[in-house]
Amino acid sequence: MERRRKILVVDDDEPTRQMYANLFKEADFQVIEAVDGLEGLEKASREIPDAIFTGIIMPRMDGFTMIESLKKNIPTSNIPVIISSHMGREEDRQKANVLGAKDFIIRDFTTPKKVLEKVKALFVEGKEYRLEIDTSSMDAQKLAQDLGINNSFQCMECDEKLIFKVFSGNKKDRGMEAQLICPSCGWQAK
Ligand SMILES: [Zn+2]
Repeated sequence: MERRRKILVVDDDEPTRQMYANLFKEADFQVIEAVDGLEGLEKASREIPDAIFTGIIMPRMDGFTMIESLKKNIPTSNIPVIISSHMGREEDRQKANVLGAKDFIIRDFTTPKKVLEKVKALFVEGKEYRLEIDTSSMDAQKLAQDLGINNSFQCMECDEKLIFKVFSGNKKDRGMEAQLICPSCGWQAK
């Protein structure tokens, strides 16, 4: 029999935490809960969950600081994290990207069904590649123009050279998807 997946839900808002805990329990996950980043860090280190679903703003330790701390310890460094944002600020999305969060959802705009899909997607075989852009390649200049970015493919925020992040989904899925991102500050082309 397949082992049940263990997920850690971190949120200081009790009704929100309960809502997601129940959602994951109904989907047959084993759920652990933590009321803030500090407790999340303790429980993640002890239980090594298969995934972490966390809010951002919390007392004692926020979600970003928790993720940074998890990345510093080998046993917890590769646990996939999904961030649940209340306000959906662009700077938070960028920070989540830089910290290597697997997904970023905006609570009020993401249905429970969609949240579950995103969590399950963490366990689907898939790979991510980071590729450099050859600005002299066939359609590079056309692409820059279409996306409204400069033709040297430098980040609009920090001037770092942009790269392509390419994802391959599972085999049943349709091929690959690419995103133009800044490896330094997390800026992404829309
Ligand atoms: Zn940048």
